[in-house]
Amino acid sequence: MSKKIIELADKLKSKIYSDYNAGKQTWFRTGGNAKIFAIVEDNLELEIILNEINNENFYIIGSGSNLLIRDNGYNGTLIKLGKGFNTIKINDNKLEVGASILDINLSNYALRQNIEGFEFYSGIPGSIGGAVKMNAGCYGSETVDVINSIEICDNFGQRKIITKDKLNLKYRSSKINNTDIVTKAIFNFNYGDQNLIKDKINEIKNKRLESQPIKNKTSGSTFKNPENLHAAKLIEEAGCKGTNFGDAYVSDKHANFLINRGSASATDIENLGKSIVEKVYKKFNIKLEWEVKIIGEK
Ligand SMILES: Cc1cc2nc3c(=O)[nH]c(=O)nc-3n(C[C@H](O)[C@H](O)[C@H](O)COP(=O)(O)OP(=O)(O)OC[C@H]3O[C@@H](n4cnc5c(N)ncnc54)[C@H](O)[C@@H]3O)c2cc1C
Repeated sequence: MSKKIIELADKLKSKIYSDYNAGKQTWFRTGGNAKIFAIVEDNLELEIILNEINNENFYIIGSGSNLLIRDNGYNGTLIKLGKGFNTIKINDNKLEVGASILDINLSNYALRQNIEGFEFYSGIPGSIGGAVKMNAGCYGSETVDVINSIEICDNFGQRKIITKDKLNLKYRSSKINNTDIVTKAIFNFNYGDQNLIKDKINEIKNKRLESQPIKNKTSGSTFKNPENLHAAKLIEEAGCKGTNFGDAYVSDKHANFLINRGSASATDIENLGKSIVEKVYKKFNIKLEWEVKIIGEK
């Protein structure tokens, strides 16, 4: 299979690499190689590549801001959406956004167009595909509040529209299959006051700078907040703040953020996470659930 995909590279505009250092595509900046890494140009080439992959493993990644790839690498094709999925337009009173658009770029676009409700995306460093899959949100707003529907491409290369009610968007989760690639998101929107929109974006920026180690190599919140509780508080009270595994540290600023201080391996990060889960469970009898997606061979 991989040989066939590599052979396709000459015939396509998509960029296809073998034995690719995929860890560098993640915000942790560590982890193993992907057998194949494809940056897919557009819908037509996505269909061709998915047909070639057939029943073999593949996994779609966005900006890698919520992702850890194990040191042993990913034994399949990692797909990232490229230029052809990088458009935003207003169509029929809806905002149509390509899945590779960064959340912050959507937020900036909305600001320029006096569109309200997208300010929270200025605080999330992912792509729109990842935002839909994770129901990303912050400071009281989530993707579910603004989404209308999405376009997906399934593993047979078939494109379909799925409406919001079928997505089951809940706190940092959705019902989107791992084999469904979000290619486009369609949002409802209202116009608002540009100054108020700008103020809200600045407020979010300041809050994040104060409370999160956003300049570090991190994947943001590592664990989901258990109902009515804060994972960061549980982690801190279980005595994990500042602890480490090699160069993987629990942030001093925000205990739910794990940081690669330099040369942490993906194993260091995963082991640090596992030790947090154990300590929190021992102290509070609560099992933290990973928010960060971990892929690759054990
Ligand atoms: C500093 C920092 C702060 C953060 N703060 C927040 C926050 O406040 N709120 C929040 O919700 N998150 C936050 N995150 C986590 C992360 O930014 C979000 O989960 C984001 O939505 C992930 O998007 P991504 O494009 O980086 O996806 P990736 O990390 O690449 O992938 C995450 C998941 O989305 C899937 N995915 C990606 N693209 C697609 C697609 N096109 N189709 C289908 N599935 C896809 C992947 O398969 C994977 O399961 C933060 C991360 C960092 C590093």
